[in-house]
Amino acid sequence: GCALCVKACPFDAIYIVNLPMELEEEAVHRYGVNGFKLFRLPIPREGQVVGLLGRNGTGKTTALRILAGELKPNLGRVEGGEPEWDEILKRFRGSELQTYFRKLVDGKLRVAHKIQYVELVPRRLKGRVRDLLKRADERGVALELAEQVGLDKVFDRDVRQLSGGELQKMLIVAVLSRDANVYIFDEPSSYLDIRERMRMARLIAGAARPGAYVMVVEHDLAVLDYVSDLVHILYGEPGAYGIVSKPYSTREGINVFLQGYLPAENIRLRKEPILFRKPAPEAQPAAPGGGRQASRRRIVGWTGLRVALDGFTLTSGEGALYGGEVIGVAGPNGIGKTTFVRTLAGALKPVEGAVYPYVEDLRVSYKPQYISPESLPDATVEQVLKAANPAILAPGSWLNLELVKRMRLDKLLERRVRTLSGGELQKVAVAAALAREADVYLLDEPSAYLDVEERVGVARAIRRIVETREAAALVVEHDLMILDYVSDRIMLVTGEPGVRGHVDDPRPVKEGMNLLLQNLGVTVRKDEQTGRPRLNKEGSYLDRMQRARKLYYAV
Ligand code: ADP
Ligand code: ADP
Ligand code: MG
Repeated sequence: GCALCVKACPFDAIYIVNLPMELEEEAVHRYGVNGFKLFRLPIPREGQVVGLLGRNGTGKTTALRILAGELKPNLGRVEGGEPEWDEILKRFRGSELQTYFRKLVDGKLRVAHKIQYVELVPRRLKGRVRDLLKRADERGVALELAEQVGLDKVFDRDVRQLSGGELQKMLIVAVLSRDANVYIFDEPSSYLDIRERMRMARLIAGAARPGAYVMVVEHDLAVLDYVSDLVHILYGEPGAYGIVSKPYSTREGINVFLQGYLPAENIRLRKEPILFRKPAPEAQPAAPGGGRQASRRRIVGWTGLRVALDGFTLTSGEGALYGGEVIGVAGPNGIGKTTFVRTLAGALKPVEGAVYPYVEDLRVSYKPQYISPESLPDATVEQVLKAANPAILAPGSWLNLELVKRMRLDKLLERRVRTLSGGELQKVAVAAALAREADVYLLDEPSAYLDVEERVGVARAIRRIVETREAAALVVEHDLMILDYVSDRIMLVTGEPGVRGHVDDPRPVKEGMNLLLQNLGVTVRKDEQTGRPRLNKEGSYLDRMQRARKLYYAV
């Protein structure tokens, strides 16, 4: 049957009601006979940033590639010859899209496009950062922008030696340096820390000069909120079809997306809203530091660590992880978060201090920050998950529900892990790490490349696993909303990136968030409707008032 007949998707996640019959006439593109189909398009606006929000596999990249002129839309026609531009232009008659496509066809639009998966770049580009940026620099701003974002430290490095975050920054700077009038950013915040995300958001917003179109796909909602003037929501059945919503104001768009109902189109996106309320602290036994640890079982502790790497030193005070507790770890890139995680995992030996397991034969499950397909066995997703814990494949088990069904991994089971996209690989790696029976779960940036629902799904799965197994989890996270949502306590790592870092003692979430934001010099308020954190514009009334009261995190 037709994919549009779906009333309740088999994953129990997406409900589509009242799909208009005339939608078929609004097909924009289809990849082959049984391929993914996109309906409608986002509308680029001159001088504004248009954000795209929606699940992975609903056509965001496809829409961007069409608007970038990289993919000629076939209007859903996969047989009988592809349409000419005249027909395509006619289709969008009377809308702003017609004007846009007219300019595109007439060669009046120059497009600069930051692709989604930055780690693919070193395979295609060779050379040093400085030379690559110089080549991209049509506006004569590249070196200055690069300095502003701290790339000057790696000017002489070969692209192949860059970290994910450095690659991301280099590509964003390269795109901003183009003399273009269409700027497209497909997930600009992956691998960036919070400060870098905000800096990038400001630079991207600055590209929306008069006459220029800017479009952004972003899953970190605090960033999307900060950068966009308008948002379109993409919905549908991931992998089968996607529909682009009408434009919403940014705040309303994000809120209706979280609430799961699009009023302008009368479409329900999912059964339940995404809420940011955690169980009340009173309901939990009191715990040191005001956390809400489910048990007092100490799992692993550390005292006075000093870890010395070539040119970088990490130190710590004294601390411990408790059963049933999730610790969120936050701090800039290069400050030693991964180093701390690897020290707890026993992969790095401290020169001073020690890591103390409190349980016998401490079992550690570790999801590293970067997962390169080449480093994986040539196996299927099913084999990888089964090796982690066969119970994850048992239909009806809670592990299966949380990690396979909710994460939509059932569709990927037959695929070979080496052929997966970045987001798919991340989900498999996180599911495998959480499926393993362990006392401590160490998850280094589990939300990179995941969409909002997947991020929330992972956060929920972490909480459930930690509570069920009375295990502890340490989660390195740069998405403010997810950091707050997943954490019982927050641990900050501070210092000088690349030189030295200090692991602070875990603190209650509010206090930790407040200090984190104070260090970043930004203030955050709470959205009345959804409870999500929103960044205040610098110098706004709320920003000034909260600063004066030292209330950096008013959530
Ligand atoms: P998003 O950016 O929202 O994750 P995409 O536009 O990348 O979504 O992909 C939407 C769907 O189209 C996915 O199921 C993807 O596998 C499919 N798709 C993307 N590119 C192609 C292609 N060149 N050929 C066939 N299918 C494709
Ligand atoms: P974060 O996870 O906070 O981004 P990392 O712990 O990965 O930071 O890195 C902290 C610093 O230590 C960085 O400057 C990094 O280049 C350096 N570093 C990491 N691993 C090694 C190593 N094996 N040898 C030398 N330096 C390293
Ligand atoms: Mg790291």
